[in-house]
Amino acid sequence: MKTTIIGGGIIGLCSAFYLTEAGIDVEIIDKTDISNGCSFGNAGMIVPSHFIPLAAPGVISKGMKWMFDSKSPFYIKPRLSFELIQWLWNFYRSCSKEKVDRAVPLMRDFQVMSKELYQDLAQNPELDFLYKEDGILLLYRSKKTEKEELETAELANEIGIEARVLKCGEISQVEPKIEIEALGGVYYPGDAHVYPNHLMKSLLDYLKNRGVQFRLNTEVVGFDYQSDRINSIITNTGEQIPVENLVVAGGSWTAKILKFLRLKMLLQDGKGYSVTLKNTPQNLTLPSILAEVKVAMTPMGNDLRIGGTLEISNLSPKINLSRMNGILNAVPKYYPELKPELPSEKNIWHGFRPCTPDGLPYIGKSRIYKNLVLATGHAMMGLSLGPASGKLVSEIIQGTASSLDLTLLSPNRF
Ligand SMILES: Cc1cc2nc3c(=O)[nH]c(=O)nc-3n(C[C@H](O)[C@H](O)[C@H](O)COP(=O)(O)OP(=O)(O)OC[C@H]3O[C@@H](n4cnc5c(N)ncnc54)[C@H](O)[C@@H]3O)c2cc1C
Repeated sequence: MKTTIIGGGIIGLCSAFYLTEAGIDVEIIDKTDISNGCSFGNAGMIVPSHFIPLAAPGVISKGMKWMFDSKSPFYIKPRLSFELIQWLWNFYRSCSKEKVDRAVPLMRDFQVMSKELYQDLAQNPELDFLYKEDGILLLYRSKKTEKEELETAELANEIGIEARVLKCGEISQVEPKIEIEALGGVYYPGDAHVYPNHLMKSLLDYLKNRGVQFRLNTEVVGFDYQSDRINSIITNTGEQIPVENLVVAGGSWTAKILKFLRLKMLLQDGKGYSVTLKNTPQNLTLPSILAEVKVAMTPMGNDLRIGGTLEISNLSPKINLSRMNGILNAVPKYYPELKPELPSEKNIWHGFRPCTPDGLPYIGKSRIYKNLVLATGHAMMGLSLGPASGKLVSEIIQGTASSLDLTLLSPNRF
């Protein structure tokens, strides 16, 4: 039975990949030409080490402090919105130890499954995306952060994710190429990274060669539906496209798309920025996360990408130069030899991470429409969780046993 996917980001493309593998015809509709969205300019990290969801104890107090610092990694643009208030209320309720403890085993299994699927994809001779499995390095400069990160590292080892704590003098064992100024670090050898732009392009070409139909620069603006079925999609070009099975993987726009079906989804955009230093003579061996400032740095071939910030911005494309400056100014504090300059605005990339109130993605069937599957809300882990999410979507569509227990991921949970 044919499946139509709205959204050609990493989640839509990975869903198409595994549906096609299962012999299912797929069509993808995207309002862009799929060349520069959130799935392209991100930091490319594949992170089994990220098993703690965004909504966790301590996050609210940190966020409140950051709100008043124009260069901090977090900001919520104040606005009177019932949806934002509901989202914040549910975020607040999700920041409990009990909820996080429930989510951790699932997130570990989800991340590990996805990394294993990346290992398979990297073996595929038709896909080329600079997959490197040499771990990531988390660096910290303060005692307070050290305490938090050592707790996370301990938990990681307990649940089977290897974490090696390194004192300042030991960091050069894993990152010999460049000077580092930090109190210490945690090395997660099981993490990996890719060049997301290559991954997306490679997947697009692969899917086109496999007969997946793409309707690009076509925005979904409505649906024709009856009580429990969606019959067709209405596009901005006035076309009406019949659907059999429908997957909505519209990233941060998913809640907006679902309004056309009278469905509510709590979802906010977490805008982030990145710059890519091309052919940089001084590059890192390993990707790193600068813990205090939440900046991600990833070597991608000869290039170095530096990204960060999470601004709940109501999908505003405006670039906040002060915040981007905050990201770049933080770099020499950890890597004194690197002094990246603020590029012109047109060279600053931005993307909208789809954020749920509890930090867990939404993957599953709609409660109302029998032929609708939802797949979004991956926040800062969408690239990492892409293949596993795509596989889960294909299992739902086929009606086969699920590789993971989807209860905590239900799109009907709020
Ligand atoms: C700075 C930054 C760094 C990041 N680093 C990492 C990282 O290292 N590792 C990681 O795992 N994740 C990372 N992420 C997060 C990751 O990029 C996202 O989670 C992921 O890209 C989301 O993918 P998606 O397919 O859900 O959404 P998107 O990539 O946004 O795709 C959604 C698609 O839906 C389309 N669409 C929307 N509305 C409509 C409509 N009405 N009609 C038709 N099409 C529509 C859009 O055009 C878009 O192409 C980072 C994000 C940022 C911003």
